[in-house]
Amino acid sequence: MRERVKLLPPTLVQRFHGWKATTYSENSVWYKKLADEGQRPRAMVISCCDSRVHVTSIFGADSGEFFIHRNIANLVPPYELDGEHHGTSAAVEYAVQALKVSHLIVLGHSKCGGVAGCNSMCTGHAPELEEKTSFVGAWLNLLRPGFERVKDLPEEERITALEKEAVMVSLENLMTFPFVTSAVESGQMTLHGLWHDIGSGNLCQYNPNTNGFENV
Ligand SMILES: [Zn+2]
Repeated sequence: MRERVKLLPPTLVQRFHGWKATTYSENSVWYKKLADEGQRPRAMVISCCDSRVHVTSIFGADSGEFFIHRNIANLVPPYELDGEHHGTSAAVEYAVQALKVSHLIVLGHSKCGGVAGCNSMCTGHAPELEEKTSFVGAWLNLLRPGFERVKDLPEEERITALEKEAVMVSLENLMTFPFVTSAVESGQMTLHGLWHDIGSGNLCQYNPNTNGFENV
């Protein structure tokens, strides 16, 4: 099996050495401090795996600032103690319990392939996602309750609304974790819902007073 693992392509090797000679060497004291003192991120961000979502860029964040978990369509499953492998729940538990982050941000985005896939699946246009062998389909099932809330909207509007529902469903599910609820209720941590428009660069946040997303 191990012989199937290959060395990095030269372009990536070259780009790494470029980073080491510039960004790293200009900030080596900072990196050493991070290594010695450990991480103390103030926020956890749950965002999509999509390569266009670049949360550290849009907030100008440095190493050590954000504890980031990425998955398809930035979804958080509900609290479930079933002995299965819950990567997202494990990351949330570590951020809240061990790192004691002050903010937990769920970041959705426009043109999300995962959300579009959920829409196709829920409208009966993606039977492959409904197969028992599809990890993606099983994962996107988490968003079905969100689909139910937007299913009557016209297609294009529905997909954008479903991208925002992916944020809301995740925030609702986060509140089913006892340690999240107690961190929120004690004032240790605040929850935030964001949606980033890739093309325009705009960022919207959920405002509980208007029950909608508004430009930041
Ligand atoms: Zn996405």
